[in-house]
Amino acid sequence: MDFTKYKNLLFQKIKSQFSMWFEAKEESQISNSEVYRFLHSVHGSSGTLQLGGLHQLSGRLIEQIEETDYKQWEKEELMNFLGDLINLSYEFENFYEIGENKEIRHDDHLPLIQIIDDDVSMLILLKDTFEEKGWMVAANTTPEKAIAHYYDLNPDCVIIDINLADISGFQVLNDLNEHNKQKFVPKIMISLLNDRETRMKAYKLGADDFIEKPIDLEELTVRVERLLTRKKLYDQSVMLDELTKLYNRKFLNDVFNRNIKDLIRNKQLFSIVIIDLDHFKQINDSFGHLTGDYVLSTFANFLKEHTRTSDIAFRYGGEEFVILFQNTAQNDAVEIVSRLLREFSMTNFEKNESIFTVTFSAGVFTIHNPDIRLEEALKIADQALYQAKKNGRARVEVINHSPIELSKKTLFVSIIDDDAIIRTMLVRILKVMDFDHFELNLEAFEDGVQFFESKRIEESGEHFLILDGVMPVMDGIEILQKVKRLKKDRNMHVLMLTGRKSESDIERALKLGADDYVTKPFSIKELQARIQRLIKRMK
Ligand code: GH3
Ligand code: MG
Ligand code: MG
Repeated sequence: MDFTKYKNLLFQKIKSQFSMWFEAKEESQISNSEVYRFLHSVHGSSGTLQLGGLHQLSGRLIEQIEETDYKQWEKEELMNFLGDLINLSYEFENFYEIGENKEIRHDDHLPLIQIIDDDVSMLILLKDTFEEKGWMVAANTTPEKAIAHYYDLNPDCVIIDINLADISGFQVLNDLNEHNKQKFVPKIMISLLNDRETRMKAYKLGADDFIEKPIDLEELTVRVERLLTRKKLYDQSVMLDELTKLYNRKFLNDVFNRNIKDLIRNKQLFSIVIIDLDHFKQINDSFGHLTGDYVLSTFANFLKEHTRTSDIAFRYGGEEFVILFQNTAQNDAVEIVSRLLREFSMTNFEKNESIFTVTFSAGVFTIHNPDIRLEEALKIADQALYQAKKNGRARVEVINHSPIELSKKTLFVSIIDDDAIIRTMLVRILKVMDFDHFELNLEAFEDGVQFFESKRIEESGEHFLILDGVMPVMDGIEILQKVKRLKKDRNMHVLMLTGRKSESDIERALKLGADDYVTKPFSIKELQARIQRLIKRMK
């Protein structure tokens, strides 16, 4: 007998029960007997319908509660208790094979491949292929978004289609390589034409590899792999940051340890300072990335000229710098950095007839205790930096106490999905995730109207939006359009959930500026890993 229809009915039933419990607006409690009855009915039906996994799980849950208990469940508590059932229902609903959980890698150093192609079916194919390998993928259909992503995400390899609609892939290659003169990021061109002239042009413009269409996916993967290995070797061997000629962060540990030794031996305190340029995205957006690059190298030179040789500056990341002030107590460090700030803010930069200045914010932490590790010290200094940003930027803040009592940056995560199960599940996944330097402010919405009414979008800070593509009231694309209209800055990151076959939806989502997409049904673990990586990169 074919149980499909009955199975669907059962999942429908589970789903509506979840909606009733978890979406009730008022803070009502749920009686234990109600939960008990529900589990019993699920247990019974799933047995009959030969849904083994569901049958076992509901059985296990029943054993954990007493029928006669008069307990009242809080929404939250019940959601946690039923968590596995919620996940299972979702995966079942999408006809997932239970138990065949792929290994998901949680490694921080997963390579990120950026693909720039306006042929969306090709984009999807490549993205799937690489994600299958466990790599991360940033997929872009437009050169503007691609260039922004390139700077924001620091990819390990870039694949560019030569035949883009509005602008040639050569142009994109050229733009990226202007920045790249100082940095090795392998670039592969893909092209329909494979004549000698096209190839020569690609190589002359700095392409590291050239692949003709139709693409042999296996070969492309091997070639990407080969370039990734090369990049890794290269990255390991350089100590200086190419753009600024400052030490890169690899050397930070050595210098830190040297200072720790001085602290132990000679009781010499030292200070660690993190500096982050203010509103740097705006500089890039208004004057172009090359001007941004110029500001960075100018700032680096300024640091070299205005500090003692024993104070060592590092490029810590994008527009973040770390300075270790040897044998320097807190007051002195603050004074020096404040002076740096005053002087650097007076430097005039010029571009297209406009003159602008740049400020920075800094966090200072002085090390008294030799047991502290570099990571901790950086975290503490980062808290001070955060205070400086919060207090209005262009200022220096210090920190004396342990970071625990201090506020973290808020990360606004909003989920908009009309499917109750997915909403509940995403909330659950996100709640248990570790966001490290972010304080999570999470909310789920049934539709776009509710989301916009909440006015969350007006809060300043980093926003991460998980958006269902297809919804009855205002679909994902509409929401995305409105979000992009209301919030033009780049602190809005959008992950779109799309139906597997809606290639046109993916296309529109990417064109409208979504940062990534995931096709439904997704595996929960995979999605979790994906969100974690995206947020890690957002720092
Ligand atoms: P805030 O005052 O809060 O620090 O604002 P911000 O705009 O500086 O924000 P954030 O620190 O998030 O942005 C840093 C930007 O720096 C993101 C990235 O596009 C850009 N960036 C990172 N590396 C480079 C680079 O090598 N060159 C250029 N031109 N831009 C870079
Ligand atoms: Mg920054
Ligand atoms: Mg900044």
